[in-house]
Amino acid sequence: MAGSGKFFVGGNWKCNGTKDSISKLISDLNSAKLEPDVDVVVAPPFVYIDQVKNSITDRIEISAQNSWVGKGGAFTGEISVEQLKDLGSKWVILGHSERRHVIGEKDEFIGKKAAYALSEGLGVIACIGELLEEREAGKTFDVLFQQLKAYADVVPSWDNIVIAYEPVWAIGTGKVASPEQAQEVHVALRDWLKNNVSAEVASKTRIIYGGSVNGANSSELAKKEDIDGFLVGGASLKGPEFATIVNSVT
Ligand code: PGA
Repeated sequence: MAGSGKFFVGGNWKCNGTKDSISKLISDLNSAKLEPDVDVVVAPPFVYIDQVKNSITDRIEISAQNSWVGKGGAFTGEISVEQLKDLGSKWVILGHSERRHVIGEKDEFIGKKAAYALSEGLGVIACIGELLEEREAGKTFDVLFQQLKAYADVVPSWDNIVIAYEPVWAIGTGKVASPEQAQEVHVALRDWLKNNVSAEVASKTRIIYGGSVNGANSSELAKKEDIDGFLVGGASLKGPEFATIVNSVT
């Protein structure tokens, strides 16, 4: 834990679940013992946010998985920041690799979304990550710094941002980054913030890791100084395993 504030664990449920399965997951989470010194957030699909907010313990905050880039209006199929706040979301995940590489969102658009969400008072889980071919071509840091710069160029403040480093090759593949690989990147991201934003932002911003985190590998990762938490996909759909990950804080 190098960033100040608490260890941060987010569960990204992606496009999974039904009313019934989510009700079971909530009941598992409500009865789980969670370390008090950890910020715990879950990100249900939009259509279940209300159900989750109304039945989950206040101990766990709600995040959306995306938001519209500005004020709502004639934008078919989109969900505005104002609507998310109305339902009780405190956070939004932006720049997730599935939105970048499956949907085609670009750095500049993602930066604008982050700036708008922050200006309206939502916290932003700002995702970045390199593709396998970019890593193999030795471009990991170029890619990550460019993605980070797109946020840094426009965000009004860093007070409410958590950076999620999620190497694309590790997401949903079962191929987790080694603690050393993740630590190396987190240190480089912190240095970038120090050199390009400020020493204060570098030292206080939480940098969390995502990509095949599970109940068996989280405690080794959590031991690394610059890993300030996790963004968890698949394993966040199982209440007891997600609780194990939350409790891996050291
Ligand atoms: P995973 O997903 O844990 O299933 O790899 C992580 C994420 O996409 O946030």
